[in-house]
Amino acid sequence: MEETAGNALYLNQNGPEPSWPVLAGPKTVDVAIVGGGLTGLSTALHLAEAGVSVAVFEAHVPGWGASGRNGGQLNPGLKFDPSWFNERFGEDQARSIVAFGWSTVDVTAALVDRLGIDCDLRRNGTLRAAASERDIAGVRRTYDDMRALGMPVDWLEGEALAALTGHQHYPAALLDRRGGDVDPLKLVRGLAGSAARAGAEIFARSRASDLAEQGGGWRFTANGHEVRAAKVLIACNGYADRLWPGLAEASVPVFSSVLASEPLPSDLAARVMPGRQVLYESGLVTVYCRVDAAGRMVIGGRGPMRPSSDAASMGAVRRHAEHLWPALASVEWDYAWNGRVSITPDHLPKLHAPWAGLLIAYGYNGRGVALSTALGAHLAESLTGSVTTETLPLPVSDMKRMAFHRFWPIGVQGAIAASRFRQMIADLF
Ligand SMILES: Cc1cc2nc3c(=O)[nH]c(=O)nc-3n(C[C@H](O)[C@H](O)[C@H](O)COP(=O)(O)OP(=O)(O)OC[C@H]3O[C@@H](n4cnc5c(N)ncnc54)[C@H](O)[C@@H]3O)c2cc1C
Repeated sequence: MEETAGNALYLNQNGPEPSWPVLAGPKTVDVAIVGGGLTGLSTALHLAEAGVSVAVFEAHVPGWGASGRNGGQLNPGLKFDPSWFNERFGEDQARSIVAFGWSTVDVTAALVDRLGIDCDLRRNGTLRAAASERDIAGVRRTYDDMRALGMPVDWLEGEALAALTGHQHYPAALLDRRGGDVDPLKLVRGLAGSAARAGAEIFARSRASDLAEQGGGWRFTANGHEVRAAKVLIACNGYADRLWPGLAEASVPVFSSVLASEPLPSDLAARVMPGRQVLYESGLVTVYCRVDAAGRMVIGGRGPMRPSSDAASMGAVRRHAEHLWPALASVEWDYAWNGRVSITPDHLPKLHAPWAGLLIAYGYNGRGVALSTALGAHLAESLTGSVTTETLPLPVSDMKRMAFHRFWPIGVQGAIAASRFRQMIADLF
């Protein structure tokens, strides 16, 4: 099946795509951005606001990739505990990584507010739940770590936790009061509209290919026309193609599946995630859920490792929802879709600057809605030369092809199967 965003909830709720032009002739700009997701659009917005001539080239339409069909969770932080970064990067760099990584929802909310984007943004908090007794210690470590840095987190167990989830399956959770949710496609379209109004050009159905350095600048082809730019940002995340050698092999595009129910009947809506927090289960391959502004249960997790919009192929996600809230067995699942999460070998986002004037950003490991939106301002600063790559808030590293890349999806499938098995065992007791 060819990959499509067609059955994603947001596309169906938000109506047809605004009509973006297709590149119809040669183009010269200061900065060319390849990829029209949150990374590319936020960067374009900030560049245009700084008076830089910038154009975005998107192979499909803005938001076609992960940005327009994700779980809509705004979760502060990266995949590891703050103190882990001290050991890995040293105190100075860790301080800037943590300051940035855990402020991304604040930054995104402030940007949405400043631009007046209507995207159903709510900030009821993020619950990181221990899915079984054996996960409690890890979640508690994260809580203690965040607490030590003065972050606004609460520890919840028993009745207090059940009051927020509507069930008693999770033994404990931490609540980060900064988290929230958003309609991600509305956010994409809001950023694209704001970027265009600030002067950015946005081209849809204009896949970039044949990127090459030329005379101190860059050239590539999009829709059969030549594009020249002093600088280029590649922001293709899990959809990277052959544009830059080795990029497609530097991370694993893992499909994550999402189901959205019909708007829940009012009695059920009052019992399922009644606090309207967003929730994800602890672990690296996780289940995530929320009840959106329209009262739909939006739940995601493991599913087929190929493009799919067939709810039947996502039975594991539906069964998990019904296991947590048995009353959901009676609701219709209106939308089913999946998309590619860019997973890196060390589960950290990646920034590369392999050549003068070329920047590459990807690898948000399923935590990219707020992260990529917030990163855009910094990428823009780096592309204007007002900060160096050394002062970006995330480390700039050399790009590495993953050894045996073709076989990594099998390894990920194995990890998913193992986590399913562990969950099955946990559910038995
Ligand atoms: C199912 C799912 C659920 C998720 N849930 C969450 C969540 O709840 N919370 C969270 O924080 N994160 C979540 N994520 C991750 C988050 O959506 C991503 O990290 C984020 O959207 C990445 O944005 P991006 O702009 O870097 O990439 P994308 O939005 O994927 O955009 C990349 C774009 O590049 C384009 N492209 C590729 N090659 C070319 C080319 N040669 N020329 C032109 N264009 C090209 C693609 O068409 C694509 O539109 C989820 C992801 C998925 C798939």
